[in-house]
Amino acid sequence: MDRSKLYRRFRTLLVANRGEIACRVIRTARAMGLRTVAIYSEADREAMHVALADEAVLLGPARARDSYLNIERLIEAARKTGAEAVHPGYGFLSENAEFAQACYDAGLVFVGPTAGMMTAMGSKSGSKELMEKAGVPLVSGYHGEAQDEATLAKAADKIGFPVLVKASAGGGGRGMRIVRSADELAPAIVSAKREAKAAFGDDRMLIEKYVDNPRHIEVQIIGDSHGNLLSLFERECTLQRRHQKVIEEAPSPTLNAAQRETVCAAARKAAGAVNYVGAGTIEFVSDGKDVFFIEMNTRLQVEHPVTELITGIDLVEWQLRVAFGEALPLKQDEIRINGHAVEARVYAENPTKNFMPSVGRISTWRLPAETGGLRIDAGYREGDTVSPYYDAMLAKVIAWAPTRDVAIERLNRGLEESDVRGIVTNIPFLSALMTHPKVRANAIDTGFIERELAVLTAAAPAPGELELCAAVAAIVNEERQTAHAEASSPWQTFGWQPVGRRQRSFAFRVGHGPEQKIALNYGSGPSTLVIGERELAFTIAAKDGGFDLTLDGVKSSVAAVIDGHELYLRTRNGRFDLHWVDPFGGESEEHVGEDKIAAPLPGTVVAVLAEEGTKLEKGAPILTLEVMKMEQTLRAPYAGVLKSIKCKVGDIVQEGVELAMVEPAGE
Ligand code: ADP
Ligand code: ADP
Ligand code: MG
Repeated sequence: MDRSKLYRRFRTLLVANRGEIACRVIRTARAMGLRTVAIYSEADREAMHVALADEAVLLGPARARDSYLNIERLIEAARKTGAEAVHPGYGFLSENAEFAQACYDAGLVFVGPTAGMMTAMGSKSGSKELMEKAGVPLVSGYHGEAQDEATLAKAADKIGFPVLVKASAGGGGRGMRIVRSADELAPAIVSAKREAKAAFGDDRMLIEKYVDNPRHIEVQIIGDSHGNLLSLFERECTLQRRHQKVIEEAPSPTLNAAQRETVCAAARKAAGAVNYVGAGTIEFVSDGKDVFFIEMNTRLQVEHPVTELITGIDLVEWQLRVAFGEALPLKQDEIRINGHAVEARVYAENPTKNFMPSVGRISTWRLPAETGGLRIDAGYREGDTVSPYYDAMLAKVIAWAPTRDVAIERLNRGLEESDVRGIVTNIPFLSALMTHPKVRANAIDTGFIERELAVLTAAAPAPGELELCAAVAAIVNEERQTAHAEASSPWQTFGWQPVGRRQRSFAFRVGHGPEQKIALNYGSGPSTLVIGERELAFTIAAKDGGFDLTLDGVKSSVAAVIDGHELYLRTRNGRFDLHWVDPFGGESEEHVGEDKIAAPLPGTVVAVLAEEGTKLEKGAPILTLEVMKMEQTLRAPYAGVLKSIKCKVGDIVQEGVELAMVEPAGE
């Protein structure tokens, strides 16, 4: 391969991705004076990354296979727009050697390593073999070619349980199962293979010793085409759910200076083994004492901003300069750590419903401004639609500060001041995580989230006096604004005429909870709010996204969104969803039945786990659905008998379709 053909100056960059990472790459490319080309699917016509780029090309239908993963159409899009280079982002084709090769063959600069380096490091099995030879410490395990059941079973026995069964081609925590005893092995392999085949088109497995209570530590590296290779310190990504990172920070609060040097040196050795060019990450697990190599990601990582914030380096800029054929601008000893950074991944998902992805239109999107140490990397705006076709990550909230404690405080404030409506997000869950004393104290391992799930997904507090008053204030505030907007309306002067004291009654409830009553006294004299025996003086001053409510002499800020009779409030006590009970009555407690086993989102039935007519315990698995490439097992909502199964393996089902019926026991 000709190096000058691989890496050379270019003026137009095609960004072969979507969402926040496409937006993030476009931002730096533009700042460097490049022309940018976005690509999109039919589901993403209105997406943010399309609006940000200078040009955009429609690739095809929503399904990633027909659009973002279609190599031929991508190359064609580059040709049509005169793009000379391709940045793959992360996910999608970023670690696909065939794509890197196709770019090279089409005369395009691929912003990343060569296809050869990718092939060498892309498979977990292959890279482990390389690392073994290079003397990088590994987790013990089996990463051989033979894949028959007997070989895998023997390997697992030899390693000793617990073991981790892992897809060699895996990513994003998919195709991975912890196996604690010999009899769990075979079904775990079947299910991991199925998930890996669907997600990566490759179901080869490796088996590793499962390091108990591990930490995840990884090192950012970058190499140029002149033989220079640098490590940009480490990130700690121990807060994970289902082997997928949730919170990441840099530097690791766990390592001391000597350990830091050891892990960075091991990472340079690992990348050096393939004379790596481009940005990459060497991932390790740690048992608290030593670190063991698990894999290399030959791309930019989701969590790269925390490294950028502590080193002051724009990694996308460096990637592009390496792709131009330039030498890295700094030497190893010129790269230093400044302060601490923490990142939280904001997902469209419902933590209280087993993190089920949430889709729909984002009716409200209010994230804090990028001031006071905060950085927001977003891929969505108000009015955008989250579709079920792609990863559910919406944005990243990242905080920098001189110390870890202050960085956490700033991140918390950033999360606290975020209001997203229309879809369900994990923002309250992230807040609960970041305020957990054990997270503050760094007393965590990768199993922490799973163990603390009940605490982290605890129900919101019940509304108190402040929230009831804020609810009335929100309604009055909105009515006032509508009245101003319709100042010429003949009803307006009528409605607010001060004809002595008048009273208006309100009732609110949360979910199916009891009604809480409050009255507003208004007319001549200052208005007051009455809850039971208490009467409180109040004033409202409208502002962006809500109002300041002064109640009994204390002013506090309230964020509010009113959607018909549904009120969303954020007060100093947290977030509240209140239903304004129709003052004209007629509302009956509707029964939201959990008894129907229905598809929560569009998906494919991949396994039926119970037979019709059998008795089921509460929580017994009934069937497995693949939703957004993740397997979701639907379970019995209560003990009973499985009356009927209304689908079969392979069925593609729409949201809300009934899949099975359970008859409660004793009826
Ligand atoms: P990081 O290691 O950068 O934190 P993740 O492992 O969470 O990133 O993956 C980043 C994104 O890429 C996620 O959307 C994930 O689902 C996706 N992804 C990662 N590896 C693959 C792969 N091999 N094939 C398809 N998608 C992948
Ligand atoms: P992916 O490609 O999906 O990112 P990884 O091999 O990086 O796969 O593993 C994902 C996560 O699973 C790691 O971050 C780590 O928390 C956990 N993990 C991986 N290997 C092991 C192991 N051998 N023992 C314990 N945990 C592991
Ligand atoms: Mg990984």
